[in-house]
Parts: sequence; C-alpha cells; structure tokens
Amino acid sequence: MGLCVWSPQTLLGSNMASYQRIMLAVDLTEESTHVAERALALAKAFDAELHVVHVIEPLSLAYGGDIPMDLSTVQEQIHEQAKSHLAEFANRLQVPDDRQYLIFGRPESEIQRVAESKEADVIVVGSHGRHGLALLLGSTANGVLHGANCDVVAVRVGEPEKPSES
Ligand code: AMP
Repeated sequence: MGLCVWSPQTLLGSNMASYQRIMLAVDLTEESTHVAERALALAKAFDAELHVVHVIEPLSLAYGGDIPMDLSTVQEQIHEQAKSHLAEFANRLQVPDDRQYLIFGRPESEIQRVAESKEADVIVVGSHGRHGLALLLGSTANGVLHGANCDVVAVRVGEPEKPSES
C-alpha cells in the first residue's frame, strides 16, 4: 500500500490548492488599505492575479422614494468620485485598469456576480465582526460568504470588541 505524504509543496503544486485569481472588494474607506494588504500578500504567495471591485449603491436603492427630488446629479457626482478613488487605490496596488471594476447595485450580490464572471477563486472582504442589531441585519462580508461559490477570506477590520463589564 502506498503512503501519501501531504506537504505544503505538494499542496501548493496543484492548481486545486492554489489561488489564481483574487477578487478584492473595497468600500474605499480607510480600512480598505488593511484589507488590500492581505489580498496583496495572498496574491504574492500564490503568484495570483489581483482584481479589485467597488460597488456603488444607487441612491434610489438606499432611500427608495423617500426623497422627493431628482437624485441623478448627485448620483453622477458619486460615480465620478468613486471612479477616481478606485483608480487611485488600484493603481497603488499595481492592478491594471482592466482588472478594476466599478459597478452599480447591491454590494453583496454584485461582488459575487463579478467574482463569478471573472472566474475568481477567492474573494477578499473586510469584516467588522459585528454584534447585536448589525449581526441580525447582516454585513456585507456575511452576505458575500453565504452566496459565493468560491472561497471567501474575511479580513478583520475596525476596533477590536471590548469585553463587557458586567
Ligand atoms: P461592511 O459589512 O459593509 O462594513 O463591509 C465590509 C467589507 O465588505 C468591506 O471591507 C469591503 O471588503 C466589502 N464592501 C462593503 N461595501 C462595499 C462596496 N460598496 N463595494 C465593494 N466592497 C464593499
């Protein structure tokens, strides 16, 4: 009977165990830098392609019909600003233009959709590890994790939770 010995080398040697295309999802807040550092380290370790996505949530989705005014000018300004922030952010990571995606929609579903269409084998997102109401409502990381059909790396961001004093 043959003996099979698993080592990091044998695992990393097979395509099954290595990442080839990484989809980094960024909300373009300050925390994105920390999440990006992890994605970059992963890309280097696996010699993988790094792709970056930012999703703009349409104001009509966030506010519905609650605001009785035309939001198209504001939406256009948000789009222009997000476009330049994403380009600046991705260029710092040396991610070429054709691997940068600016999409309109709901972040959870659009992150999954673009990851699938670009055949990413892992999605990297930030995670706040929220408690209470936010946990009930769900976070983006949670939403991505539950619908994705590839691996999801959740990078812890934000202040660590303090133990309650009771
Ligand atoms: P949240 O749960 O909304 O605090 O976001 C946690 C993580 O989800 C962020 O660090 C990003 O990785 C990702 N994310 C949230 N919003 C967006 C967005 N609009 N576009 C792309 N990724 C996002």
